[in-house]
Amino acid sequence: MKTPVVIAGAGPAGALLATYLGRQGHDVTVYESRPDLRRTDIDAGRSINLALATRGIVPLVDVGVIKRVDAITIPMRGRMIHAVDDPTPELQPYGSKPHEVIHSVSRTDLNAILLDAAEGTGKVTIEFEKRIASVDFDQSEIQFHDGSSAPFGVIFGADGAGSPIRQAIADAGACKYRTDWLDHSYKELTLPAQPDGSHRLDPNALHIWPRGELMLIALANPEGDFTVTLFAPNTSFESLQKLSDVDAFFEHDFPDFVPLVPDLAQQFSANPTGRLGTLRVEGWSFEDRAVVLGDAAHAIVPFHGQGMNAALESARALDRHLRGSPNDIAAAFEAFETERRPSTDAIADMALDNYIEMRSGVVDADYLARRELALDLEQRHPEHLSPRYNMVMFCTMPYEEAKHRAATQADIMTTALADPSVDVDALVSALPPLPDLDPLADPDALSVT
Ligand SMILES: Cc1cc2nc3c(=O)[nH]c(=O)nc-3n(C[C@H](O)[C@H](O)[C@H](O)COP(=O)(O)OP(=O)(O)OC[C@H]3O[C@@H](n4cnc5c(N)ncnc54)[C@H](O)[C@@H]3O)c2cc1C
Repeated sequence: MKTPVVIAGAGPAGALLATYLGRQGHDVTVYESRPDLRRTDIDAGRSINLALATRGIVPLVDVGVIKRVDAITIPMRGRMIHAVDDPTPELQPYGSKPHEVIHSVSRTDLNAILLDAAEGTGKVTIEFEKRIASVDFDQSEIQFHDGSSAPFGVIFGADGAGSPIRQAIADAGACKYRTDWLDHSYKELTLPAQPDGSHRLDPNALHIWPRGELMLIALANPEGDFTVTLFAPNTSFESLQKLSDVDAFFEHDFPDFVPLVPDLAQQFSANPTGRLGTLRVEGWSFEDRAVVLGDAAHAIVPFHGQGMNAALESARALDRHLRGSPNDIAAAFEAFETERRPSTDAIADMALDNYIEMRSGVVDADYLARRELALDLEQRHPEHLSPRYNMVMFCTMPYEEAKHRAATQADIMTTALADPSVDVDALVSALPPLPDLDPLADPDALSVT
């Protein structure tokens, strides 16, 4: 590999990749635009968490940090549905097997563990508050916003959806990309702990208030609070200018949620509104000089809770391709994209589909009938059928395979629900056998060392 080896961005993908490259024996410099999150409160006092699932857990086992991560996660066994007309929330379990849970984890704390792991290789130097402005391939030089510059041989772009590394690859004529913006946005809020520090809602579930075009979700933090996210059409956000508008909005659509957050309107006006989009990139690399991964290559909408999981899975795949082709880095980069792009395209589509399922499907009679049939068929044919959600969240089969299998299963269920005389068991047992759905059952098989 050409030196110096540089990674842009020390988020989850960049920090994990640095760990992998350090373990391969490379000296690596990581440039990160923000201050060191282990020493500065970059979230302005708010805890922001996300859902970690099997595809993200496997690389964490791989690099030996899973015990530290495990200590800061909260398992979520299903969706707790807060329906509009029912005062008692209902739990829809994700599955029946012990590993079929997702895990709420603080972004910052997980990232901190990965930064420690990268530095722990003894091969990785992380330079914080160094925002990359552009990359000059001819001069082999990175320019920073502060006017300084640094040399590079190869650069890995783990610098998020707005990646300047991807832009440099595009400027070199090796990549085309576009972002499809959603006409919905999001805002994060905090549901505080009880005065005694306990959670106000069941911490072991992902709470959803599905309201058609609107949706609130809440994930627990170990400190007793919940990170809440409102997803709503852009027009709704635009209409909520005054504190009284915000109060009226929540009273109208989420009356059971209002008493849980005393300073709701104040938080709403203080916190930023985030946009949501799907980034489609064709051409992830330039020769043996640059490659993008994580959100820089495949940012998706968050409705399947898979963006970071996919980013970690990509870092692990890139490590495997680099080890498999150490003397032809350009070929390793190409093989990485050939393997991963069909997968990340598939999860991008499934994440968009899941928005409809979460905000309206989970209380829809047809959805509930299909879900019941899927769980029933899974009990009878565990080697042949698994619900789509479970194939995405609790398994490492390529996303495109999960998408394809789910489409076939959906056709079978449509047929069976339309005509009860159909021999659904025969149709399901004719499906190709599923791969091992629990890759964590044999952690030894994961070790790269
Ligand atoms: C509301 C919301 C909820 C989500 N929930 C989930 C979830 O439950 N589960 C899940 O798996 N995913 C979730 N995601 C997605 C997840 O946050 C991302 O997919 C993940 O953070 C991608 O990791 P990354 O390392 O590729 O990019 P990033 O996390 O964006 O990291 C990029 C890093 O590069 C740095 N950087 C950026 N520009 C520069 C520059 N010019 N120079 C130097 N450094 C730079 C940034 O500061 C950052 O540290 C969610 C996303 C959103 C918006």
